Amino acid sequence: MGRQRVPGGPHGPRQGAGGGRPVPGAHAGVHPVADVVVVGAGIVGVSTGFNLARLGAGKIVVLEREGVAAQASRLSAGLVRTHYSNAPEARLALAGLKWFENWAELVGGEVPFWRTGLLNPVAREDHDKLRRNVAMLQAVGVETELIGPEEMVELEPAIHAKEDDLAAYEPRSGYADPGATTHAVAGAARRLGVEIAEGVEVTRILVEGDRVTGVETPARRVAAPAVVLANGAWSVPLARAVGVEIPIESVGVRLAFVRRPPDLRPGWGGHAVVLDRAHGAYTRPEGADHSLLGLSGARVPLTAPDRYDSEARPDAEFEQLARSQLALRFPSFAEAPVVAHRSGPIDITPDLCAIIDRVQPEGLYLAVGMSGSGFKKGPAIGQCVAEMVLHGESRTVPIPEFRLSRFAENDLIRGDVYSGPFNLVH
Ligand SMILES: Cc1cc2nc3c(=O)[nH]c(=O)nc-3n(C[C@H](O)[C@H](O)[C@H](O)COP(=O)(O)OP(=O)(O)OC[C@H]3O[C@@H](n4cnc5c(N)ncnc54)[C@H](O)[C@@H]3O)c2cc1C
Repeated sequence: MGRQRVPGGPHGPRQGAGGGRPVPGAHAGVHPVADVVVVGAGIVGVSTGFNLARLGAGKIVVLEREGVAAQASRLSAGLVRTHYSNAPEARLALAGLKWFENWAELVGGEVPFWRTGLLNPVAREDHDKLRRNVAMLQAVGVETELIGPEEMVELEPAIHAKEDDLAAYEPRSGYADPGATTHAVAGAARRLGVEIAEGVEVTRILVEGDRVTGVETPARRVAAPAVVLANGAWSVPLARAVGVEIPIESVGVRLAFVRRPPDLRPGWGGHAVVLDRAHGAYTRPEGADHSLLGLSGARVPLTAPDRYDSEARPDAEFEQLARSQLALRFPSFAEAPVVAHRSGPIDITPDLCAIIDRVQPEGLYLAVGMSGSGFKKGPAIGQCVAEMVLHGESRTVPIPEFRLSRFAENDLIRGDVYSGPFNLVH
């Protein structure tokens, strides 16, 4: 159960790669005709563009109102895990993991992915759920096993494990730099001829009869028979204007970065990703000397998706809570000095699972509502969407469970979700 560090670009704790800055005037050169327009250049949008190009879908234009990785895909915690409480998401996460593991072959270049392993301890009352979930995950092909306190301490000597503790362990999971990953995919897409236009906001989806005919931007129209919305919660008004109601709420999620306590190993791969369901806290290394802390499912409702900095800014109370919850598993984090913090937007659906679908009007595709776990799955979701656009259905992973109509049908994606001190998270 050793660790492997897969090299990638170092980034300090205050921000990931990528700035998300618009390129003034870039829109003037946007090609006026495309085979597919993708709205949004987060991990989902650039992965969709890249996979469309790989599959030979013709002229692909990705329109981004700010810059590549301007929003959630830069601000994310970047955990790459396959532990889920439902099979549809686990399949997508496993397909996503394969991208991180085979980056050079699939995307080209180096991947900023640290395979630290993932520890997923749960509360005593959730042991049966954990056993069922591990069996379900093994059945879908996830490499995972149940481990007890001795193995937990063997993996992470600084961990506090009670004698009846039980965790799932995934040796292949870890984390990646979200901004750098998104920029890497964008670069690969551009090398395949995808036009990614930054500083270009899509203001309207154009429809004639029952078919999509393109999009409108402030400077010009781009004609296209297929439009993929990959712009998170910002998709809601665009879709509503063409009669598609997307049930997404915007919430803010906060992270703190602390100086890593001396009883944990230093290094980018210094400690495992720990997702402690019993206490609702998670951590991963950040750089060589820091660790990232978050609270699973602790979310702040936003009045608009852009307002996370003003409405969900991490405060002293959050930082103290994150440290004290994590300290129930790693006692030395209780006093770890906070060196930075940030927040970001997530787009949650009623069952906390993505919407990946083709809808009416004909030619409109949705890849939105990632519900706070779309980074790891992004490359695989892009592949599924590209296949859906080109072949009518996803061939990589079955995705009918992610259809939009499940909400009206009351056929939500449900799993053996763990109890915990905060909101539910799969
Ligand atoms: C703090 C935090 C921690 C997270 N931790 C994890 C994690 O550990 N693991 C994980 O897998 N996921 C995590 N997530 C979730 C993950 O980051 C997101 O699900 C994922 O990045 C979403 O990607 P996206 O491409 O759908 O959206 P985004 O990255 O938000 O991209 C959408 C893009 O669309 C653009 N846009 C919006 N409207 C328009 C328009 N009209 N025209 C043109 N462009 C437009 C925006 O500018 C934006 O760049 C976390 C998220 C946050 C905020």
